[in-house]
Amino acid sequence: MRRVDCVVIGAGQAGLAMSHCLTTRGVDHVVLDRGRVAERWRSERWESLRLLTPNWQSRLPGFQYDGDDPDGFMTMADVVAYFERYAASFGAPVHEQVEVTAVRLDGDGFRVETTADTWQAATVVVATGYADRPWVPSLAGRFPGHIAHLVPTAYRRPEQLPEGAVLVVGASASGLQLADELNRAGRAVTIAVGHHTRLPRRYRGLDILRWLDWMGVLDESVDRVYDIEISREQPSLQLVGDPGHRTLDLSGLRARGVRVVGRLIDVDAGVTQFADDLVATTAAADIKMASLQHRIDRFIAAHDLAAEPALPFAPQCLGFAGADTRLDLDASSTRTVLWATGFRRHYPWLQIPVLDDRGEIRHRGGITPAPGLYVLGLHFLRKRNSSFIDGVGADAEALCTHVKQRLDETHTSNARRKTNGPRTEAVA
Ligand SMILES: Cc1cc2nc3c(=O)[nH]c(=O)nc-3n(C[C@H](O)[C@H](O)[C@H](O)COP(=O)(O)OP(=O)(O)OC[C@H]3O[C@@H](n4cnc5c(N)ncnc54)[C@H](O)[C@@H]3O)c2cc1C
Repeated sequence: MRRVDCVVIGAGQAGLAMSHCLTTRGVDHVVLDRGRVAERWRSERWESLRLLTPNWQSRLPGFQYDGDDPDGFMTMADVVAYFERYAASFGAPVHEQVEVTAVRLDGDGFRVETTADTWQAATVVVATGYADRPWVPSLAGRFPGHIAHLVPTAYRRPEQLPEGAVLVVGASASGLQLADELNRAGRAVTIAVGHHTRLPRRYRGLDILRWLDWMGVLDESVDRVYDIEISREQPSLQLVGDPGHRTLDLSGLRARGVRVVGRLIDVDAGVTQFADDLVATTAAADIKMASLQHRIDRFIAAHDLAAEPALPFAPQCLGFAGADTRLDLDASSTRTVLWATGFRRHYPWLQIPVLDDRGEIRHRGGITPAPGLYVLGLHFLRKRNSSFIDGVGADAEALCTHVKQRLDETHTSNARRKTNGPRTEAVA
């Protein structure tokens, strides 16, 4: 058995950010990944994908974008190279192709079993990602057998899909981008839309994320929101990292021939049913977007900033009245359903009672009920941008302080036990 003070599980942005913080504070640790550094960006993303966050917003502890296109958007190859450079910049102790198969309590610390060595560690940081497993509703089982099903992590390019039309379920960043790509590739596309967050790419002359960054919106912490559980369920932003900085929204898709419908609610005898809720969901997204733009306007006025004039707000919802509520799969030649319906986490290897009844790790700002066990990189862990490249660093810094304290405590109590011997045990 090998000993180390801290085991970090996962070498994505969260695991690497934590490793940087631990390195800076001289904590002996390893980072274990079942694949390679940034594995999900290599093997679970589609070919044309670019980050939807601009390059300047790839700030990590001790590292930031230093190229000549700060307002551009990295391709997947760029992202992988960026994280490889980050890991190399501080000699991150990453062990690649090592899968963690069990984490158990072991005295004051943990026993971490892997496909290679077994580790004994006083602290463990779970950084296996919030976008772990695509979630597909049970409704999928009601589609006729000849319909192909695909999730975004398995989708690569349009030609991979069987000939014919495509039903995309879900209209957050992934669903919208994939509907757009398939439409441009000449496919007939229907997109089923639920609750979503609409945003323009640019507003008053700047990237929308630049405004949100300056205003501190993305840094808002869990105690600033009304209900953290609701905030954690918020859909991702309807944005695309397009080199032309275009806005991607439902109206634009519909103008190009994509059939936009409400939430998928049933499938019966090869006919899908959609809720008659498209006006309601698009109106809710319109209101939220209008209020955010208004907040930006007030920020510009309050700080007397030079900005392009505000254009009249253009709501989308009214254009969606009377949307179809059914789709006959065969009559429309629909052969594929692409489920862009979000992610869940799965921790079968975590043999410590910290999971809630949904299988999520119970935590407060990443600190779990098991002393010495931490989780990093989850959606809204501590702040709105906790699962973004730009946000994970602050959370890693905060949790690193806890790791260090825990190590100091366990080292002190071990030293005391050694000095006092059995007397301390008897008193305890
Ligand atoms: C399609 C998509 C686009 C996104 N675009 C952006 C964007 O533009 N900007 C942005 O800031 N964020 C974006 N995100 C959000 C976020 O940045 C990513 O989800 C990111 O990958 C999360 O990083 P992470 O380190 O928390 O987890 P991951 O990148 O998921 O890393 C977890 C690592 O853990 C490893 N692992 C899992 N289980 C085990 C195990 N048992 N043993 C060992 N290793 C294990 C995996 O191999 C993986 O490498 C996007 C997310 C998605 C899904």
